Amino acid sequence: MNYEELANIIFPDIKDIEYYEEKYPKRNLQEGAIVTRFAPSPTGFVHIGGLYQSVIAKKMAEQTQGVFFVRIEDTDQKREVENGVIGIIKALKDFNLEPNEGMINETEVIGEYGPYKQSLRKDIYKSYAKYLIKKGYVYPCFCKQEELEQMRQKQEQAKTRTGYYGVWAKCRKIPVNEAIEKIKNGEEYILRFKSPGNPEKKIKHHDIIKGNVDFPENDQDIIIIKSDGLPTYHFAHVVDDHLMKTTCVIRGDEWLSSVPLHLQLFQVLGFKPPKYAHIAPIMKEENGTKRKLSKRKDQEAAVSYYAEQGIPHEAVYEYLLNIANSNFEQWRKQNKELQNKEFELQLNKMSVSGALFDLVKLLDISKTVISKYTAKEVYEEALKWAKEYDVQLQNLLQKDEQYTLKILSIERGKEKPRRDISKWSDLKENIQYMYKEEFEKENSEYQLQKIDNRQEAKNIISSYLEKYYNHEDEKETWFGKIKELAHEYNYAKEVKEYKANPEQYKGHVGDISTLIRIALTKRSNTPDMYEIMQVLGKEEVQKRLQTAIKNL
Ligand code: GLU
Repeated sequence: MNYEELANIIFPDIKDIEYYEEKYPKRNLQEGAIVTRFAPSPTGFVHIGGLYQSVIAKKMAEQTQGVFFVRIEDTDQKREVENGVIGIIKALKDFNLEPNEGMINETEVIGEYGPYKQSLRKDIYKSYAKYLIKKGYVYPCFCKQEELEQMRQKQEQAKTRTGYYGVWAKCRKIPVNEAIEKIKNGEEYILRFKSPGNPEKKIKHHDIIKGNVDFPENDQDIIIIKSDGLPTYHFAHVVDDHLMKTTCVIRGDEWLSSVPLHLQLFQVLGFKPPKYAHIAPIMKEENGTKRKLSKRKDQEAAVSYYAEQGIPHEAVYEYLLNIANSNFEQWRKQNKELQNKEFELQLNKMSVSGALFDLVKLLDISKTVISKYTAKEVYEEALKWAKEYDVQLQNLLQKDEQYTLKILSIERGKEKPRRDISKWSDLKENIQYMYKEEFEKENSEYQLQKIDNRQEAKNIISSYLEKYYNHEDEKETWFGKIKELAHEYNYAKEVKEYKANPEQYKGHVGDISTLIRIALTKRSNTPDMYEIMQVLGKEEVQKRLQTAIKNL
């Protein structure tokens, strides 16, 4: 049979695979180094699941001194969206997930194993397709869309598997010479794989995450090159991951069922297949049932959400590690000061069925991450965010940088730092009462708590201002005086005393502090009141207390 002629007619000016085999030599890496990748299609916004895959892939490469590259899979040009590629590159950059190889911005590419964009690799795919035509593993298929549709209907009626395989694979039986004639006559065609598989036979596959899985062999004659000359995902995956020397494919588990096909393609090409780790999708719990985090329903599915909310990328990164390996949480508790890179991620400890995404937990992690920032870091990061998303906050931060830094220093850099900020979009509410003009603009009422008798409240604050408040007091003296004040009004100096004999007191010192706090900030929950008073300064404290006495 004349496969050689068929190959030359289909691809007259295409280089032999030897050219590419030489062009992309074995990588010079240490034993055990993992070469892996993130291979997104630029078909929409970057999904948190994509970021999750990248976190895992990059971490595995880093841990083994391997390589993490990004390959843009743009072979489905109908589905491509504008700025899709840029969106991907930016997201990876924002989250410190820059690849060792691939596009790093619109114009720059790094790495010796490119091009890293599939639409620029057309000739490479053709070379490998030509090689397979010569070996009799790829043939032209002249079936029209309508014919395929009719075939599918027949299969459905006959309740048999759908697809192009076995007896249904009509064009696989066309003699080569006839196929050559058809092509010479200008008939349209695409290229299909002539699968050597028998579905009666099983293949055994070991997946790093899913464990041992058995599959029937593939017998589908899938399309490998489409009518637009571009490859399908399956063929591109095999050619690219071979040439780019991927040792471990980390990808979404929607591809798990394609493993028999992929292994077959590696086999007929004579290539060593990579290992596979199929990641289960991130799930969300809703009304007691689990479902995939959805692009349509869940705002947190889009990576842009985190930037918009001002959730630091370290927090998102840390949270994703948390759902990747459940032992991370324990490790973090025991190693509070260590950086994430010290944690050893293990693919075989990943959940087989899909980890649950919990925004509340992410925000809690974010609080801890932010609590470790210095005041200056909070200032800079918040300002960067505010410049893009909140002009008012930007103005507030920039009006008096030194004063803002004092506010941000409250309860920071201590053993137990303040943990009240989870995202930059919370910051304004957290600090605005510390600025004179902002506080004056707030025309909210004082919301009294335990001490809710207005006259009593006024009396207590007046006494505090007249008899006890001295701005120069050290913290201990200052608090001693609040206790004295409590005593004067028959509130217990210690919570313990009050609890032992509640009937003897009107309340305890905590109620008094809360009242002063409300008078000073109109809030019952703030960081350390002593520090707040120090930052506000004597004059402002006096003014706020007087205003409270008047307006309560
Ligand atoms: N482009 C494929 C996807 O986005 C990549 C799968 C893979 O990583 O191989 O699902």
